[in-house]
Amino acid sequence: MTGRTDNGDLRGGRLTIDLGAIVANWRDLDRRSRPGRAAAVVKADAYGLGAEHVVPALAAAGCDTFFAAMPDEGVSIRPLAPEARIFLLNGIQPGATDAMIADGLIPVLASLQQVESWAAGGDRPPCALQIDTGMNRLGLTVDEALALAGDDVLRSRLDIVHVMSHFACADMSDHPMNQHQIESFQAVMASFGDIESSLSNSAGVLTGGAHGLAVTRPGIALYGGEAVDGIANPMRPVVTLEARIMQVRSAAAGETVSYGATHRLARDSRIAITSVGYADGYPRAGSGSGVPLRDAVPEGLCGFVGGHRAPVLGRVTMDLTCFDVTGVPDDALAEGWIELIGPNIPLDDVARACGTIGYEVLTGLGPRYARHYRHKEED
Ligand SMILES: *Cc1c(COP(=O)(O)O)cnc(C)c1O
Repeated sequence: MTGRTDNGDLRGGRLTIDLGAIVANWRDLDRRSRPGRAAAVVKADAYGLGAEHVVPALAAAGCDTFFAAMPDEGVSIRPLAPEARIFLLNGIQPGATDAMIADGLIPVLASLQQVESWAAGGDRPPCALQIDTGMNRLGLTVDEALALAGDDVLRSRLDIVHVMSHFACADMSDHPMNQHQIESFQAVMASFGDIESSLSNSAGVLTGGAHGLAVTRPGIALYGGEAVDGIANPMRPVVTLEARIMQVRSAAAGETVSYGATHRLARDSRIAITSVGYADGYPRAGSGSGVPLRDAVPEGLCGFVGGHRAPVLGRVTMDLTCFDVTGVPDDALAEGWIELIGPNIPLDDVARACGTIGYEVLTGLGPRYARHYRHKEED
């Protein structure tokens, strides 16, 4: 094991990241992308899991194309994968161009204005294009893209190495938007001729592979998250999060737990007080009671210890969360840890309890945990 393991005794939680599972997930997605190839989306510090560890592991496994969002992400990834292509999904921004070119980072140009500004540089460093086929986020409109495709003067001043678009609804496999976007993008690519292209994110890969294109751009599925609604998640789980149990206390039926006294105990209870809270990215929205979401969805977050599910009692607080461990054997509690995410508590169950998605939970995990990186692919 490597990484931030040295100060675990000083921390309230431990986050174990299985790099072997990330590599296995990438190989799986790469197979599903054939005859195309899977790149890896590593924006936001590899979805919060540490690009510093994830990128070298994937590069060693043969991944040669990475997508980050921001120039600074690209700059920090470059030394980790010196030979790889690194695309920047958020395009160009004032003041960043020289650093991008110096590190061989490839911007995904996101508007006609960005295309013209990149072309004005003169040296034709490689670029990519984002085409908006329905998301209304970044990208040239289909009409702008078709005009650019036929503009030989402008194109002669550009070295376009990749053209991409992004699904708005790939997680809902029967949404009509998907077919519409595929058709719009195919029309654009027909006018560009023989340029490498990509469309599928994780959900796109799981439902339709590469859609006939050369590259796919999976992110969340690499990290074990659920990409498609309503089908069993085929990816290997990657993250285990455990909180340190600081104290186990007994409280009588009728007493209340945590801020606002929103949870009143229905029975004499044992309560594990743990050193993880919303400042660690364990969302307050997932509190057992006393937050707006609980009025809509009764179930809050749950931990797992000694073979038992242990519901969160009352509000999650900044540094501490209380779990109902009534009936959990003392020796299991004495080991001192409760699972918050892991083999018994899937990431996406945590997300659902907080009214959000696995992406937001992962990227919110933050710097407070002792991080352990496991390297073995098969065990
Ligand atoms: C984040 C992102 C991806 C990866 O999406 P996942 O759903 O995590 O697979 C792919 N393409 C673009 C443009 C993105 O912004």
